[in-house]
Amino acid sequence: MKKIIITLDGYSSCGKSTLAKEMAHALNYVFIDSGAMYRAITLYFLRNHINWNDDAEVQEALKEINLDFDYNTTTGTSDMLLNDENVEVLIRDMLVSEHVSEVAANQYVRNFGVTQQQKMGEKKGIVMDGRDIGTTVFPNAELKIFVTADPAIRVERRFKELFAKNPNISVEEVKTNLEMRDYIDSNREFSPLRKAEDAIVLDNSNLTREEQLRTALQWVNNKINELVK
Ligand code: C5P
Repeated sequence: MKKIIITLDGYSSCGKSTLAKEMAHALNYVFIDSGAMYRAITLYFLRNHINWNDDAEVQEALKEINLDFDYNTTTGTSDMLLNDENVEVLIRDMLVSEHVSEVAANQYVRNFGVTQQQKMGEKKGIVMDGRDIGTTVFPNAELKIFVTADPAIRVERRFKELFAKNPNISVEEVKTNLEMRDYIDSNREFSPLRKAEDAIVLDNSNLTREEQLRTALQWVNNKINELVK
């Protein structure tokens, strides 16, 4: 069957990664969580006290960073490797979430991420989620999905996910972080979060995981049928 590139973009905590992962599994495609790459860079910057507002410092630091994905047989998904260290758990920490959007707004960080992501798509058969995948990384992707959900529902989902790992977290903290990231991601100069003109909107506020997966897979089918005509 013809393989295509599928992009999923949208605001924070819309369930993009969950859907992308399930789509990749159903289609036997590769799933790439581009946000994990920006999170890993942020972790490196925090650990090494890199000032992400200083372009010269950022350029030097990026030379020391090697990012990779490693397939995890237990979770059935890929873990983020930062210079060969598995940082999948560490990059989900609130401290990383608090700074990742500032780091991801730096133009050198963006070039670094985008170049690697484009390489990963060379063989097609990929589902990548992020903020600028349908606009900047793969502007010619065959299927682009822009995922949205009601802000209150997004906060609730994210809170539940984080509370399971850290019972000290508050709803207010989660809400502030999501709003701040969405604001920075949408207003940055390079590669801001935007719906690509040819993206299909998927509002999953009132959809179950199964329903949204079914809808998205139907879109994939339609697209492939259209392309082989
Ligand atoms: O997807 P996730 O929420 O893990 O992404 C973390 C952050 O990485 C986002 O808030 C955004 O600042 C940045 N990001 C980005 N471009 C992408 C993916 C993520 O700027 N393609």
